[in-house]
Amino acid sequence: MAYVDEVIAKVIEKNPGQPEFHQTIREVLESIRPVIEENEDEYRKLALLERLTEPERQVKFRVPWTDDNGQVHVNCGYRVQFNSAIGPYKGGLRFHPSVNIGILKFLGFEQIFKNSLTGLPIGGGKGGSDFDPKGKSDAEVMRFCQSFMTELFRHIGPDTDVPAGDIGVGGREIGYLYGQYKRLTNSYQSVLTGKGLTFGGSLARTEATGYGLLYFTRALLKRNGIDLKDKIVDVSGAGNVAIYAIEKAYQLGAKPVTCSDSTGWVYDPEGIDVNALKEIKEVQRGRLTEYKKYRPNSEYHEGRGVWQIKCDIALPCATQNEVGIEDAKQLVANGCAALCEGANMPCTLEATKYLMDNHVIFGPAKAANAGGVATSALEMTQNHERLAWTFEEVDNKLCQIMENIVENIDSAAKRYGKEGDYVAGANIAGFLKVLDAMMAQGIV
Ligand code: GLU
Repeated sequence: MAYVDEVIAKVIEKNPGQPEFHQTIREVLESIRPVIEENEDEYRKLALLERLTEPERQVKFRVPWTDDNGQVHVNCGYRVQFNSAIGPYKGGLRFHPSVNIGILKFLGFEQIFKNSLTGLPIGGGKGGSDFDPKGKSDAEVMRFCQSFMTELFRHIGPDTDVPAGDIGVGGREIGYLYGQYKRLTNSYQSVLTGKGLTFGGSLARTEATGYGLLYFTRALLKRNGIDLKDKIVDVSGAGNVAIYAIEKAYQLGAKPVTCSDSTGWVYDPEGIDVNALKEIKEVQRGRLTEYKKYRPNSEYHEGRGVWQIKCDIALPCATQNEVGIEDAKQLVANGCAALCEGANMPCTLEATKYLMDNHVIFGPAKAANAGGVATSALEMTQNHERLAWTFEEVDNKLCQIMENIVENIDSAAKRYGKEGDYVAGANIAGFLKVLDAMMAQGIV
């Protein structure tokens, strides 16, 4: 049996009940098959893929906290430190009821290759909790964050592991987490990114994932002879990634017409009002049902349905596996030219295959949404220099990084005979650097 197939089978057997982790393992290992086959015997002997697919360290801990009525609750906290071959572990914290070790292993594994693609020296990690910040008061969120950091602080550090935000962890949560880290360690270190601007945060970090997604999409389309200008864009999600993807889509001359949250979705034929969206989501922390008050001509629907709206470009920015095979069929039937993933692994393997088989230009998450973590690495650099760059400086670097990623994934795909297959291109380009570092560092 080929070494890649052996390891896929082993990982599935050793990690039961972790379907999302199996999904990313299949996708990545299938893609890097041509690289592994160049040196299969040596890699097997060195257990390279077994080491790549086993996190270097995983911590799981109890997070007790008290609600505003004096009731005590207990959540699970986690940090998966997956791979530090090319730099300290780096990756977000997700607070969402769906969080479990399998989800975090999938996210941490993806993060290794994403971080490598940025060209910056950061390894892969991910963490979080099954805590749900929705409906909690600020004081409850603060107490939860303080309790979470009271354990996490001993596992992280500016040269060890630098967490950031993800779903359910934004500026508010990072502020509370950072305050507690500082109190516990009596030091002012670059140990979290996505910080507020008054305490070491970087300009453009808030916007970075969404803006980066659009810089990536524009460059990928250009490479395929298509201009982003005047294109109709379907966006899903209404969180940090979606909001700034919508904002940048306008700035680059496209027209975003949809967004969604966990209860429903909006179609605004005149284009999504990004200021209304920011007011609802960032200020009021409300639901999209409010959107119609700002835009009476828009439509609100319960459930999910964004992908039935005819578009040129699809940007899923909500969560994993939100685009299934039926959605992919609908997008193809409506003439969608390209899909770039703003969320982490929003397309199922079946949907991805269908889109690619039907010549939809496909920009995979680990390349398309790498702008967030890339700007986190720029935040770390500014912290270490004890300097703050201007918005333009950071934004220009972000744009350059995203354009480099497009160039690299395109040439990696071509080099391995897979022209236009950017999934393979991203996995191969991300893997090659990690491979080189792992080989050089011996059996660790
Ligand atoms: N959670 C984001 C991601 O999925 C950002 C991570 C970071 O900035 O460290 O890449």
